[in-house]
Amino acid sequence: MSQRDPIIIEKNQEDLKNDAKIRELWMKNICDHDKYAKFKIKETYDFIIVGAGTAGCVLARELIHGIPNINILVLEAGGPNAHSNGLISLPCTWFQVFQLYDHDWGYVTQEQKMKSHVNPIKEAAVKNGIPYPRGKVWGGCSSLNAMIYLRGQAKQYNDWAAQGPEYKIWDWDHCLEAFKVLENNLRENPDEKFKQLHGFNGLHHVQDCGVYDILSGLVDAAKNLGIPYNDDFNGERQNGVGIYQFTNGEGKRCSLADCYLRDALKKVEFHPGSEPNGFGKVVAVDIRSYAHVLEIIWDEENKKENVAIGVRYFCNGTVREAFIAPKGEVIICSGAINSPQILMLSGVGPKENLEANNIKVRKELPVGRNLLDHPSCLFSAKSTSEKIRHWSSGSEVGIIHKANVEGKIPCKEDFFDENPDIQIIAMLLRPCLEPSVDDSFDGIGLLSVLNIPSSVGYLELNSNNPFDQPRIHLNYFEKPEDLYRIISSLKLSREIIKQPPLSTVYNVKEIGINDEFGQWITNGDDLSDEDWEKLVFEKSNTTFHPSGTVKMAPESKGGVVNHRLQVYGTKNLRVIDASIFPYIPSGNTNAPTAMVAWKASRLIIEDYMKKNQKLLILRSSVI
Ligand SMILES: Cc1cc2nc3c(=O)[nH]c(=O)nc-3n(C[C@H](O)[C@H](O)[C@H](O)COP(=O)(O)OP(=O)(O)OC[C@H]3O[C@@H](n4cnc5c(N)ncnc54)[C@H](O)[C@@H]3O)c2cc1C
Repeated sequence: MSQRDPIIIEKNQEDLKNDAKIRELWMKNICDHDKYAKFKIKETYDFIIVGAGTAGCVLARELIHGIPNINILVLEAGGPNAHSNGLISLPCTWFQVFQLYDHDWGYVTQEQKMKSHVNPIKEAAVKNGIPYPRGKVWGGCSSLNAMIYLRGQAKQYNDWAAQGPEYKIWDWDHCLEAFKVLENNLRENPDEKFKQLHGFNGLHHVQDCGVYDILSGLVDAAKNLGIPYNDDFNGERQNGVGIYQFTNGEGKRCSLADCYLRDALKKVEFHPGSEPNGFGKVVAVDIRSYAHVLEIIWDEENKKENVAIGVRYFCNGTVREAFIAPKGEVIICSGAINSPQILMLSGVGPKENLEANNIKVRKELPVGRNLLDHPSCLFSAKSTSEKIRHWSSGSEVGIIHKANVEGKIPCKEDFFDENPDIQIIAMLLRPCLEPSVDDSFDGIGLLSVLNIPSSVGYLELNSNNPFDQPRIHLNYFEKPEDLYRIISSLKLSREIIKQPPLSTVYNVKEIGINDEFGQWITNGDDLSDEDWEKLVFEKSNTTFHPSGTVKMAPESKGGVVNHRLQVYGTKNLRVIDASIFPYIPSGNTNAPTAMVAWKASRLIIEDYMKKNQKLLILRSSVI
């Protein structure tokens, strides 16, 4: 057992009794609190944002600066991102942070049984119960992610835009503009091409960082195999081997809470009628931590139209309500797992699952049906020791390539393909990545990530209890080509480590594959396709990019929100976060989510101004 492992002691009957007593007291206190609270305060805001994650932070800042004299309530189920002894801001501790129970929703995926693709008479199973971390803290997942800055290829955004003429606002050119506005790229001496494609005045810091020696050896090894060097994965082409840029500033994590939310909180307004002498000044964005939103409140007098008028939430042991002003909106930014859950708990979702959980259906929509993610599989290798420990996340090098759909080693042309579908994230190996190694192990891991998957999963409610986890069905590798593409990339990883200087200077050796008897098969050259499949299914993991569960598409094509991110069949209600991606970007999803939020803020501001004008015209016609 390593020193870091917690000591687990089973609770005895006495402990359990004490726990129950404390729970009872707590419940009694809640009831008393409600009994003594004689007045129900009606909180009213122009906008209510549910979730201070990547999208929520950008929206809060953009709306408060874009519309004069408004107030915004941000409800966040987690706490401030400063409550972690600095662990969140240190890039090198990101692996610890997403395992901190306090900051993670702690989701786990459902068992996935299927037929083997290689030998269909055999049953196969993708690893059971994959931990599925989601940030529960200011900044959401941007406070615990690996900080890799990738936007993905133009193609996926152009596919978003191809869904109809009104979707044109989501094509690559429009999205690129938003990426640039958000970005403050700190690259030293950028060339002209880099200057054209990046932003330098946004609030979101993006930085180059140093590279471990062994990982720069990996860059050379990949070049030896004919993989071209790429000095900007967000440049004109995505393919090649190169060093990532990170969402860091001055060596520290730059979450969206650090840049966008913090800036939003600086904005002050005056209470109407107060003198501008400092008295009556209020912060225009009110962020409430540990506030878990339970459901949307609908206007019951206007049942047919499903008008959202506020939200019900749980905070400090009581259920509270917050409402929106007449021109306001409820904006759900709770991420790809929780946004669909909130919609379903509020009666918007698939009829069957809602009725099975005793929820009245207000609007039938395929909420939760389009769960997209990037499955991945780790290939591990041992090396001579790499003692240098500097302040980095340890995953600095990427190799982006096209896979072979038959599972063969990619050929030279695949390295130059304009639409690569695999990203290999090269990292220093850690025990939490490869359970069979301990702290004294020095090695590297090559994580093959399927950037353009064909298989689609879904999620559904487990119960109507808002504190219960939804059931997450990943459906990884349901389509055979997904499996073969990952196998192809793993085979490429084996070839890379055979190249100098990895094989010579760093003495890198494949550590073998764990067979069903727990033995190491040290030479995988003669692995059959069946062995490869077994290996992939057993070792597959998430790259933490769930999205698509509240799909932006025409309603007739399985959409839940329209091109302006308004929920079909409702009023005053939008969903803005990674859940709206109709197709998953071919890269990590933080920057794309921030981009979606920035563009959505422009749509909201436009609609708000229009409503305001209508009101002014109405008023003047009355006068
Ligand atoms: C471990 C990990 C590593 C990652 N690495 C990278 C990376 O290197 N690069 C990259 O680009 N992307 C990465 N990602 C993915 C990326 O960070 C996310 O895709 C992105 O942050 C999603 O943003 P979001 O706004 O959709 O949701 P989130 O950021 O998850 O925000 C949702 C917020 O809503 C809150 N919330 C949820 N439900 C409720 C409720 N009922 N009431 C109130 N509040 C609620 C949550 O607590 C959370 O703060 C990683 C993610 C993880 C988890």
